[in-house]
Amino acid sequence: MLELYNTLTRKKEVFRPIDKRSKKVGMYSCGPTVYSYQHIGNMRSYISWDILKRILEFNGYNVKHVINVTDVGHLTNDSDTGEDKIERAAKKEKKKASEITNYYFKVFKEDFKKLNIIEPDFWSKATAHIKEQINLIKILEKKGYTYKTSDGIYFDTSKLEDYGKLARLKKEKLKAGKRIAIGKKKNKTDFALWKFSKKSESRQQEWNSPWGIGYPGWHIECSAMSSKYLGRQFDIHTGGQEHIPIHHTNEIAQAEAAFGKKPWVKYWLHAAWLLFKGEKISKSKGGLYTLSQLEKKGFSPLEFRYLCLTTHYRKPLNFSIEKLESAQTSYQRLKNIISEIKDKKVNKKYLEEFEETINNDLDIPSALQVLWKLVRDKKAKGKLGTIKKMDEVFGLNLLKKEKIKIPAEVKKLIKEREKLRKKKDWKKADKLRAKIKKLGYVVEDTEKRSIIRKL
Ligand code: AMP
Ligand code: ZN
Repeated sequence: MLELYNTLTRKKEVFRPIDKRSKKVGMYSCGPTVYSYQHIGNMRSYISWDILKRILEFNGYNVKHVINVTDVGHLTNDSDTGEDKIERAAKKEKKKASEITNYYFKVFKEDFKKLNIIEPDFWSKATAHIKEQINLIKILEKKGYTYKTSDGIYFDTSKLEDYGKLARLKKEKLKAGKRIAIGKKKNKTDFALWKFSKKSESRQQEWNSPWGIGYPGWHIECSAMSSKYLGRQFDIHTGGQEHIPIHHTNEIAQAEAAFGKKPWVKYWLHAAWLLFKGEKISKSKGGLYTLSQLEKKGFSPLEFRYLCLTTHYRKPLNFSIEKLESAQTSYQRLKNIISEIKDKKVNKKYLEEFEETINNDLDIPSALQVLWKLVRDKKAKGKLGTIKKMDEVFGLNLLKKEKIKIPAEVKKLIKEREKLRKKKDWKKADKLRAKIKKLGYVVEDTEKRSIIRKL
């Protein structure tokens, strides 16, 4: 029985899909805003949702997964003020908006692959779904949820009895502080569905609409695109914890007002952040590391994935190079041990223990402990088959043998080192190991042999 922590109810709940008779699950994950490189904090989120998807599939579900790509409408401030992030980046880099979004999306997808994250069934770009967004705003207009200001078309949050239920926003608080700036909004929490282009801003991305030339607000894309691909009600919606009070709250408001189905989404899952020195890694503050930067420092993407798996997705993970180094060591050791196992059957007891941990709200850190216990268990039978099954969830390519081309110079040093090891001249052997590392290769010694990999 799979249990998931649902932000909507603040409880761990048994997962039961909306369509009880089939094994189909609809899942939507808020995706990247493609105006810059995605940093490793962003990637931690996608690794968490990849794990969720793999666990659902491990449990026999067939997951239809959508990730949106925000390529218009996300302003520098989540509550509809500031500049459009894409327009700003295009101006800064003196490029077409589409060049910016295509380039960063391409790099993002490459990182996805490197991290062994399964691609969604649909990548849905906001600019490719303007019609769907306009249609959804039209439905809301017809039902009386919208009003016009000098700045755009807004959603009237006071029309919804349960507005803010996901974030448990207090009604009194919402009404208080009626200092409302942009274009005379009626309530503090009202948000833009459609923004008018200003004469002063000369935008690259703008469209005609029944209300005037402009562009969609940030939240409407997710409600419009999820309903297109997953239906007007679906099972799981994921995102970062910062999405709870504004973005996801507003997605729910729009969708429940338009479609009349409650709850619009049955399970809401939110991932905790990757921190650096105690603070959220964020693009607006410079982003810190990207995956390529880690690679340049000698870490493989799957070593970063391993690090992410050592902390539960609802707990913050404080990133440091030291932590990544120790993840690297553990991951390589694990692969080395596994490379020497031959027994291909499945160990039922260990697999059951593994299943119990992953089904407990994706307790992957405990699942990794089960794996370590198995590889260290001298008496256990059926190791390789079990590890193969476990790796369907971890996605760490634990059984994959790395084929590397070793340059002659390095080969020579390795041979010399082997001789020294046979003579038990550890000091000189270590010196050669350091020399080999300088040339970009790492030597790991196991009981029976030494294993070489590229840095
Ligand atoms: P963005 O491209 O900024 O819209 O973010 C894309 C996704 O990455 C969202 O789901 C965010 O919640 C997530 N995200 C951003 N920063 C972090 C972080 N430091 N740790 C974990 N997830 C993050
Ligand atoms: Zn979203």
